[in-house]
Amino acid sequence: MGTVFPVGALLMPFRYVLIAGLICAAIIFIKRRRYQMRSDRAAGTRAPIRMVRCAFCGVHIANREAVRLPANPDQNRSERYYCSLDHAKQDQLHRD
Ligand SMILES: [Zn+2]
Repeated sequence: MGTVFPVGALLMPFRYVLIAGLICAAIIFIKRRRYQMRSDRAAGTRAPIRMVRCAFCGVHIANREAVRLPANPDQNRSERYYCSLDHAKQDQLHRD
């Protein structure tokens, strides 16, 4: 039986470095996840939902879900909001 080269003994000094590295990696991973969760929450609160009224039936809808059309084709500054494309079309028909 020949002597087996003690690989474990050779790695002994590096064991703590390896463990420290693993702990550091874990801490960085957790911190990054926490930061991501926080920024997601911040993004959610940054854009508040504004309620607008449908110009045809008067129902209230969220600004981002509303169908937006210029009140007057000549001036794009003022807009009319609708709860659906159907109401937008009907309102345009009634006004013409
Ligand atoms: Zn409507």
